[in-house]
Amino acid sequence: MEKIIYIQKFGDLEPGILIKLKKNLKWELKDFIDSVKILPESIPITDSEYDPSRRQYNASLLLSKLIEYTNKKQYFRTLGIIDKDIFSRFLNFVFGVAIILKKHFLKGPGAALISIARLRESFYRRPENEALFELRVLKEAVHELGHTLGLEHCNNNCVMQFSNCLADTDEKPAEYCRSCSNKLKKVLLN
Ligand code: ZN
Ligand code: ZN
Repeated sequence: MEKIIYIQKFGDLEPGILIKLKKNLKWELKDFIDSVKILPESIPITDSEYDPSRRQYNASLLLSKLIEYTNKKQYFRTLGIIDKDIFSRFLNFVFGVAIILKKHFLKGPGAALISIARLRESFYRRPENEALFELRVLKEAVHELGHTLGLEHCNNNCVMQFSNCLADTDEKPAEYCRSCSNKLKKVLLN
């Protein structure tokens, strides 16, 4: 299976964001994967994924939908991207979610989803900062893709550090630490 990451948008999303993410992911993951592609179609977002009491979208439902959509295609990794606030069962919000695969299945298809809603400065009523936004999107993408490739949270200076809030995301690098990189190479390059 060729190691291609397919970026899959949900609903409406500025094309510029996807193009930048594609370029940045290609660079960041160059040692691990073959290519990054943007899927042209958008997956519709529906009321059934919306929780009116929380005014947020349900991350697990969206991730299941993503898997349903891409199931037959046998993509190496699919990265869903949505411009809505998402939550996961016990958490007020999440920046992203990923399917954790058992060790033997890491070379098969996998999927993750990131939300960019809370990555913009404007979400916190601060002036927009495009470069910072772009970097945050990259970090969240690299982090969730790391989970789909078998990585757990890491305490090193590493993109796999858990982000509880945006300050955590800003503090960590966009790269995997040496230990995580070695784990990835073991999984992917054998
Ligand atoms: Zn994580
Ligand atoms: Zn690490």
